[in-house]
Amino acid sequence: MPATTDFLRSDLDALEADGLLTTIRHIEGPQGARLIVDGRSVLNFCSNNYLGLANHPRLIEAAKAALDRYGLGPGAVRTIAGTMTIHDELESRLAAFKGVEAAISLQSGFTANVGTVSALVGGEDAVVSDELNHASIVDGVRLAKAARYIYRHTDAGHLEEILGQARGAGARRILVITDGVFSMDGDIAPLDEIVEVAERHDALVMVDDAHGEGVLGHGGRGIVDHFGLNGRVHVEVGTMSKAFGAMGGYVAGSRDLIDWLMQRARPFLFSSAVTPPDVAACIAAVDLLEESTDLVERLWSNAALFREALAAAGFDTGHTQTPITPVILGEAPVAQEFSRLLFADYGVFAQSIGFPTVPRGTARIRVMVSAAHSIEDLEMCVDAFTSVGTAMGVV
Ligand SMILES: *Cc1c(COP(=O)(O)O)cnc(C)c1O
Repeated sequence: MPATTDFLRSDLDALEADGLLTTIRHIEGPQGARLIVDGRSVLNFCSNNYLGLANHPRLIEAAKAALDRYGLGPGAVRTIAGTMTIHDELESRLAAFKGVEAAISLQSGFTANVGTVSALVGGEDAVVSDELNHASIVDGVRLAKAARYIYRHTDAGHLEEILGQARGAGARRILVITDGVFSMDGDIAPLDEIVEVAERHDALVMVDDAHGEGVLGHGGRGIVDHFGLNGRVHVEVGTMSKAFGAMGGYVAGSRDLIDWLMQRARPFLFSSAVTPPDVAACIAAVDLLEESTDLVERLWSNAALFREALAAAGFDTGHTQTPITPVILGEAPVAQEFSRLLFADYGVFAQSIGFPTVPRGTARIRVMVSAAHSIEDLEMCVDAFTSVGTAMGVV
């Protein structure tokens, strides 16, 4: 009998029975406060388009101009085909924006994490990671040959204990890694405490600022700026696919760090660069953030208004500190049904998230607030939550 993939069908059926099967909606136009889904206009509370830049005229104009000047593709990896000057420009602009010596542009935040960890630590070293770090950090840590340690979520006291163990075991170099903002709960890593503990143990610190840049700090400069830790965090990883509205990842830090990654980060050496129109859009996003803090301020005032209204309506929004607003409902099928009713009856697109992305029993609707939402959009969303919550008997 030849092998088949039939076994996957029963695995998929099992996911569906547990309320864990993800269904993907098909969107027929650009990102924004509203989306066209199956020919119908719905309110969008799913995307990471924090500042509404994904369809911003300045980014589109920049991408079109780059198409005319550089064409579509980068040709090959930069070490072989040569690097386009537009990538150099993005890197120096990002370094200036983040207040560091240098930056390297990669294809995505995912590849930035995967490529950086294994380039920095080897068999004689140790990696110490928050238990809830993003999947791309987890994969980066798995690829590195270093000893692995996990500390309890955002627990700097536990981190200190683990650092003592890693030192005791004779690690040459220790790299502490944390998400800046945790994407399922919206809580912020206590980076100030983490840096202090790391400094006491002579460890390097790497932060993944995917949900922090364009959101935290002055004008969206990120978590390092938010805590005033400039010069004390060795590796900042970022993505251009969330608040920056486009596509791509980067690492920011010292000149030596970036020079080393250009020699040793495998996604840089073995995968082609981001396309010129994407890069141009990213540069335009940096321009916008440097010109004005209005969008970032709007994002935060929208987030505060929304969270307060949901809490007043009786919903549990967990311990978020950012525009990521989890509405915790319990079991996965409840959250899935809630999301389905929001969409079907009220035209509100907000995705449910269950195990294994979040622990069992804490399934939720994760609501992503954006500067692109009007006050009326937010009020409509709260009304829809209240109606569905009342109908389902969860508030
Ligand atoms: C989204 C995300 C990434 C991946 O970024 P992409 O550019 O979409 O690959 C990495 N880390 C965290 C914490 C994220 O939320």
